[in-house]
Amino acid sequence: MSIKEIITVPDEILKKISEPIEKIGNNEKKLIDDLFDTMYNSNGIGLAAVQVGILKRILVVDVSTENEKSQPIALINPVIINLSNDTSVYEEGCLSIPETFIEIERPKICEVEYIDKKGLKKNLKCDGLLSTCIQHEINHLDGKLIIDHLSKLKKDFIIKKISKIKRNPDRIVV
Ligand code: ZN
Repeated sequence: MSIKEIITVPDEILKKISEPIEKIGNNEKKLIDDLFDTMYNSNGIGLAAVQVGILKRILVVDVSTENEKSQPIALINPVIINLSNDTSVYEEGCLSIPETFIEIERPKICEVEYIDKKGLKKNLKCDGLLSTCIQHEINHLDGKLIIDHLSKLKKDFIIKKISKIKRNPDRIVV
């Protein structure tokens, strides 16, 4: 298991569509472990394989709070089969877009079909934070980011700001 570097905007790979998994081998299992390590290390609640530079349809989530037992779920080839008309709004952040939070309205409930780590077909109906998190991560597999919900002007502004943060060296006072 190892912690991977998380890719941030404006890296073009984040806009690419991830490929479905045909067979779950050791590489895929190791990737899932690495995704969990990387996500927990960054205090995230979800992470898609593309965010560590691998264009495979795999994502991990764990929306448990500090005082709860962890609830890790790895989803392979997830497909949303149902979305509610009811919506909910969360202020969403993204490990690939540092220091940016955007209010996004999404369907409140989603039903998703996926393959688990053992290769078993699963069906999960989720609500609340888990629903939003899974929809956010599946968007990553299709090359869609939270800033795509904004106007081009706002999106360009955020990308510019983040590129600047990356360029700036650490400031020291001696
Ligand atoms: Zn994200």
